[in-house]
Parts: sequence; C-alpha cells; structure tokens
Amino acid sequence: MNILLLGSGGREHALAWKLAQSRLLSRAEDKFYAAPGNPGIAEHATCVALDAADHGAVIAFCDEHRIGLVVVGPEAPLVDGLADSLRAEGISVFGPSKAAAQLEGSKGFTKDLCERAGIPTAGYVRTASLGEATAALDRFAAPYVLKADGLAAGKGVVIAQTRGEAEAALADMFGGQFGEAGAEVVIEEFLEGEEASFFALTDGATILPCGTAQDHKRVGDGDTGPNTGGMGAYSPAKVLTPTLHGEVLKRIIAPTVRAMADEGMPYSGVLYAGLMLTEDGPRLIEYNARFGDPECQVLMMRMESDLGELMLACAENRLGTCDPVQRSPKTALTVVMAANGYPGAPEKGGAIDLGDAEASGAKVFHAGTRRAGDTLVANGGRVLNVTATGDSVTEAQAAAYQAVDAIDFPTGFCRRDIGWREVERERS
Ligand code: ATP
Repeated sequence: MNILLLGSGGREHALAWKLAQSRLLSRAEDKFYAAPGNPGIAEHATCVALDAADHGAVIAFCDEHRIGLVVVGPEAPLVDGLADSLRAEGISVFGPSKAAAQLEGSKGFTKDLCERAGIPTAGYVRTASLGEATAALDRFAAPYVLKADGLAAGKGVVIAQTRGEAEAALADMFGGQFGEAGAEVVIEEFLEGEEASFFALTDGATILPCGTAQDHKRVGDGDTGPNTGGMGAYSPAKVLTPTLHGEVLKRIIAPTVRAMADEGMPYSGVLYAGLMLTEDGPRLIEYNARFGDPECQVLMMRMESDLGELMLACAENRLGTCDPVQRSPKTALTVVMAANGYPGAPEKGGAIDLGDAEASGAKVFHAGTRRAGDTLVANGGRVLNVTATGDSVTEAQAAAYQAVDAIDFPTGFCRRDIGWREVERERS
C-alpha cells in the first residue's frame, strides 16, 4: 500500500520510523511519502512539498500516487477539517474529523462534553465576555487558571497567582493576544497533583490503550524557566498504576468516546488525555487529537504491534478486529536537544555531528534539522530527540544521555534531568 504522512517534527520522524517497519509497506512496490518531512524522515520516506492547508492539493496528490492511508501528525490540519475532505473523496485517513477534533480545538467544547458525560475534570466557567469572566473570578480562589478556548500553540494557558494578575491576563486575552483563539475563555478550578499522559487508539467504538508518558514542559533543569513544547519524556508513566490506568479508561476515555459517538461526532484516531492525578483521583486537564511531541517518540520506541495495521484499522472502523497494542516492558526516555535561545528566538544554522550516538541502540529522531550540503544543521527550536530504552527510568536516562554526549552540537542545549521524578522514586 502507499502511505502519506503529514508533518515535519520529531513526532513524525518517530511515526515514519515505526510505519516503515509495517507490513503495509513490506512489498517492493509499496511507496511511503512524507510532506514536508525532514532529513530524518527522509531516511524512511520520499519527502514531498505539499501544504496540508491546501486540501485540494493533498487530495490530488493522493489520487495521483494511489495513497491507501494518510496519517496526519499535527493538530492544525485536523482542526481545519483535512480528514473530512479526504474521507469525502474515499481516502482512508488516520485522524479525527473536524467535529471530533474540537476535543483539542476548543477547550470550552471539551469542558461542556465532560459536564454532560459526567467525566471528572476541573470545575469551570466558559464565557465570551470580559465582564462575565472578571466577575466569574469570584467563584474561584488563587491560583487562577485561565485558558483561551482555541488553539494557541501551547501558549494559551495562564496560571495567575493573584486576582490582579488574573484580571490583567483576561484583559489581554479578550484584547486579542491569542487572536480568534481567545474570543472565548475558560476559567478553571486549580488542580493539585502530578501530571501524566494517557494515549488510546480508537475508531469511535473500540478503544485500545497504547501507552502512558510523562513530559517535561519547562526549559530548565528542576522544572524551571519558561514553558516549551516539551523538553523530554519517558514511558511508561509508572505513577499511573494499573488501578489508576483502569480508572482513567473507565471514567474518562470510554465515556468520552461513547459521548462523541452518541452526539454524532465519532472520534477516530489517537486520543491523548492530559491528566492530573489528584488526591481525589485522576481528572482530565485537556485532550489532544494527535500524538504528543515528544511523547510519541517514547511510545513508538516501546510499541511492538504493527503501527500501520492499527492506523488503517482505525481509519476503516475495524479496530475491534485488532489485538491489544503490544508494548515492550522496557522504559523509553527521550531528551530534546534544542537550539540556544529556545523557547524565545532559537539560533538557526548551527552545525550538528551525530557521531556514533546510535551505536548502542539509541535512536536520534530529527525534529528541526535540515541539510546544508553534506552538513546537518539546526533549523528550529527543538532540533533532535535522543531516545533510548532501559530496564528502568534510571537506565534509560543513562543510555539517552550517553547518546546525547556523543553528539556534537555546539549551538544547542538540553535538560540534564529528564525523568527526575521517577529516578528519585527508583532510588528510594
Ligand atoms: P499543551 O501545550 O499541553 O497542549 P494547552 O495550551 O493545550 O497545553 P493545557 O494542557 O490545558 O493547555 O494546560 C497547560 C498546562 O497548564 C498543563 O499541563 C498544566 O500544567 C497546567 N494546567 C492546566 N489546567 C490546570 C488546572 N485546572 N489546574 C492546574 N494546572 C493546570
């Protein structure tokens, strides 16, 4: 079969690496394309220039190259309805419809759905009026959690420590700081606990859990400094014990999938739940309509099932015929190497020599790289995802940093403590 993968980050390199091992691409005539891809993805797929925002161009490419499955990596094309446009032409696609992708695209939509379906989450107020939002602060205590309703590239959430800060942040949001995404705002109860991520594949009826992970959002060691897209992750998140895993599936994931189907918006693709493990049990913080980046990298390192078969089964509404997703009992850990300046203005063009980083089984996924002649250079904020496995987080961490240290990237940096929570628990 011919497959087209859309995206260009470390997440898509991990997907490309795993898809390239699929039975779907095992015959000599099977073609694997990626758009736009990156130098790492180019080791597995033919990279082509195609704009995912141009649905007509994607459809024309699929027709011309007889694409049997389109895999959409990032959220923006899903929220924009690309999956609907492809399905309308009879093209199989892994990823939710525009209506179903509202689970990521509108925080207010998700909160309302949780309320209707009795899914445990933070109490909230949703409003499109600055006056109402300011008045609603009375119903909450500091710290105040304020969220722009729409997609804001991970920057639309403000945790304000005082009422004054909260009022100023609301004024900014309604003043257009996040454009249309901030036309509505959700104010939430502040939840305390440890965060973890839960991933499940679904075709709208069957649900197959495919792993858990914990990421590291802050740029600096010890979870300091500004927020980023993610500086590293590991899987599984052992803090999600088998009991908690079962509870999340039963009280959060399953009722969501059921409610979406009942309301005529069956969710198909990967459902990524961001959770807070509170004293009162797991609560949903947010849904994403795609794999996390860099969580995907650690999930793919552990996945033993055929990813292509699973994605095609989701796309063809027959996930019920598949076996549970097989995962290695090992821990996988990924360290993000970023360009100096990230998350502000990252320095582009710095030379990278990967050396023998992969010599002892680690995998270096490309996130923001490009080739300048024979040289690999940095071409974004997050540049490489150095990923390794081990029998514990401590072991996986040591293996990942050994690979990091084999890489020569003078204009880059990374955190040195990815996995620290679990390493501390393993030590005690
Ligand atoms: P992402 O980049 O993870 O997609 P996002 O912009 O979609 O982020 P959320 O995941 O909803 O936003 O929130 C971002 C972060 O803010 C969470 O990871 C969590 O640390 C914190 N947060 C969000 N909601 C709450 C809450 N109700 N209580 C405490 N912390 C919260």
